[in-house]
Amino acid sequence: MSGIYIHIPFCKHKCTYCDFTSFPNRLNFAEAYMACLYKEVAERGKMYAGRKFDTVYIGGGTPSVIEPNYIAGLMKQIRNCFALASDAEVTIEMNPGTVDAAKIVAYKRAGINRFSVGLQTANDAQLRELGRIHTAADFVACANLLKGENFSADVMLGLKGQTEEDVKATIALVHANGATHVSMYALTPEDGTPIYTDYLNGELPDGDEVAELYDYGRALLKDFGYLRYEVSNFCKPGYGSRHNLNYWKRGEYIGMGVSASSFMDGKRFTNTFDLDEYMKCILSGYFPVIESEDVSEKDAKFEFVMLALRTVFGVSTAAYKKAFGSDWREDFPSYARLSAYFEEEGDITRIKDEYLYVQNQILTELME
Ligand code: SF4
Repeated sequence: MSGIYIHIPFCKHKCTYCDFTSFPNRLNFAEAYMACLYKEVAERGKMYAGRKFDTVYIGGGTPSVIEPNYIAGLMKQIRNCFALASDAEVTIEMNPGTVDAAKIVAYKRAGINRFSVGLQTANDAQLRELGRIHTAADFVACANLLKGENFSADVMLGLKGQTEEDVKATIALVHANGATHVSMYALTPEDGTPIYTDYLNGELPDGDEVAELYDYGRALLKDFGYLRYEVSNFCKPGYGSRHNLNYWKRGEYIGMGVSASSFMDGKRFTNTFDLDEYMKCILSGYFPVIESEDVSEKDAKFEFVMLALRTVFGVSTAAYKKAFGSDWREDFPSYARLSAYFEEEGDITRIKDEYLYVQNQILTELME
């Protein structure tokens, strides 16, 4: 299975925690950027002619901030240039403050069949603190436009002053409004973002407090029928993200647009993070790649195990052996010492449910 990732780097406003490649004051470049993106899609399509792709994920930035005709044009170009499966999962990220009925109609007409909505929290004061441009009411309006559709909502933990009541209100809101999927993840205060100052000032919940909010949220999601399938991802039965599952299975993907990363033919490569350089390269007939590396066998083994153990599907001993010709537990001898954290079921080894949230620490020890 292979995926296509597209990066749309425009936003209305920079959120206080954001270190993604997103430009709040460059929306006037949307037309020029999309022209370059269409060109990159055409060139990459030639390069991977004959390969089948199963998912498209349009992320950002805020893809829903640009005119929907660009999204329609983009999808048309992808279909013209790539062999996209007829049942492909096609996702677009949306900010609830940038959506209207006409956009949803245009997206559906363009073949988009999955929507990822950035709610973060149902507490409007916390949304303002994060620099989000929307309110909880905007999320409800957006969800109303998505009635009956496959849509995911983002929920963020670790916000200043966040309580269990806030988490409960947020999860209850996404459930009541029909989300089929929830991504619940902890805020990472990145150096250089405004929220990092709050972190340094000790104003954000610490790791233990966030872990408690996570456990609380996980139990609520379970009560509402959302099954955890990856450490931060929960879904109603049958609604897991195929695009993300492909990442965790170490499947191939081609990323296009500024800052997009790819993993194709055993190589990982990344486009420039600079919008002007991206457009200059494309217009000069070059791929705007700034980093490229062949993944060594050692790294490939590590990735295989690390990605699989993030999910409840775990590592398949047979699949590992098929890929590398060895037993993964012998390649990672620390497993014997850490086995209390794992459970085995036939061919599959997974991290026990109660330890999945701390999988990072377990994986670090496993790799020693
Ligand atoms: S909407 Fe997303 S990409 Fe844009 S500034 Fe906020 S966090 Fe960053």
